[in-house]
Amino acid sequence: MTAFSPLSGTIAERIFQIRQTLPPSVRLIAVSKQMSVAAIQEAYRAGMRDFGESRIQEAELKQEQLQDLTDINWHFIGHLQANKAQKALERFQWIHSVDSLKLAQRLNRLAANLPETPQILLQVKMLPDPNKSGWSIAELWQDLSDLYECRNLKIRGLMTIPPLNLTTSETLKVFQQAAELAAQIREKASQIDSQIKMEQLSMGMSGDYGLAIQAGATMVRLGRVLFGDRD
Ligand SMILES: *Cc1c(COP(=O)(O)O)cnc(C)c1O
Repeated sequence: MTAFSPLSGTIAERIFQIRQTLPPSVRLIAVSKQMSVAAIQEAYRAGMRDFGESRIQEAELKQEQLQDLTDINWHFIGHLQANKAQKALERFQWIHSVDSLKLAQRLNRLAANLPETPQILLQVKMLPDPNKSGWSIAELWQDLSDLYECRNLKIRGLMTIPPLNLTTSETLKVFQQAAELAAQIREKASQIDSQIKMEQLSMGMSGDYGLAIQAGATMVRLGRVLFGDRD
């Protein structure tokens, strides 16, 4: 894996530098978990409007302090517990980490009462990984027909995180296979009347986003490379 090399400069300068390297079609999501409200405000002033958080409680506290920044899109990227599903729907415009049929069905039931249809991604494990949640490829194919029935959700694509400690070429392959899987599901979904869109690929973090973009990522989730190291 290519080592993460910290950029110098302020958060705003890092955002500017990284933006310059991203194709315009790629949406940059600033992962602000463990980062302060002040850091989020600085990123906002530098033009960021998409922020990722992985814990509902932490996000809620920050969102309350950032209420005046009404045009932020909040992306939930962590494991979502069933009892936090309602909160996630109320507080986030996107949920990247829908990782089981049960969770999808729960969100679908809850979404029936919402003014807007939530946008979600399906988290998939392209390789077995005991440290991560998500569908295996086989499980996802199996659950697809039940996912088609979740009509209160906009299922817009896939999210994946490669296992740690892969080589560069193995990581690239994981991202390429995720792109292929999305294309196959898109093809299948187009044959039936389905809400599933598969136009988004959320993949790539500080250490590997170059590879993810090479493979067709449409959203990259960057934390350390923008905000510096977390504890
Ligand atoms: C923390 C996190 C990121 C950001 O990781 P960095 O290495 O800080 O860029 C991206 N995606 C998910 C799901 C995360 O939990």
